[in-house]
Amino acid sequence: MSDCLFCKIVAGEIPSSKVYEDKLCYAFYDIAPQAPTHFLVVPKAHIPSVAGIDEDNGAVVGHIFTVIASLTRELGLESYRVVSNIGEQAGQSVNHLHFHVLGGRDMTWPPG
Ligand code: 5GP
Ligand code: ZN
Repeated sequence: MSDCLFCKIVAGEIPSSKVYEDKLCYAFYDIAPQAPTHFLVVPKAHIPSVAGIDEDNGAVVGHIFTVIASLTRELGLESYRVVSNIGEQAGQSVNHLHFHVLGGRDMTWPPG
């Protein structure tokens, strides 16, 4: 999508601090980290949120979780949280599917 921030980051039109990239997904550090380690993993294809996942585009989500498992192992993160906000009330501010990976500090539950 031409006006989507994360599509522009994936395309390299907006700079980002890359953690990992392959054919299907792109991982980069969050610009406003909420934990000592905080990066985002996004599909390269534009999907607006979890609510836009279906049988045709959903395989990338399993792939993203294998990438998260592998990256966190490499970074030495044994405990971490994976979050995806869907819609305004839940705090979604960028309408391109993304998984936050947060670690390196104690986490509270329930989340705020
Ligand atoms: P959401 O609020 O949609 O769950 O998460 C969007 C995340 O994207 C936020 O944590 C925000 O800090 C991050 N973000 C917004 N703009 C940029 C940017 O230009 N670069 C990077 N690296 N992260 C961004
Ligand atoms: Zn997009």
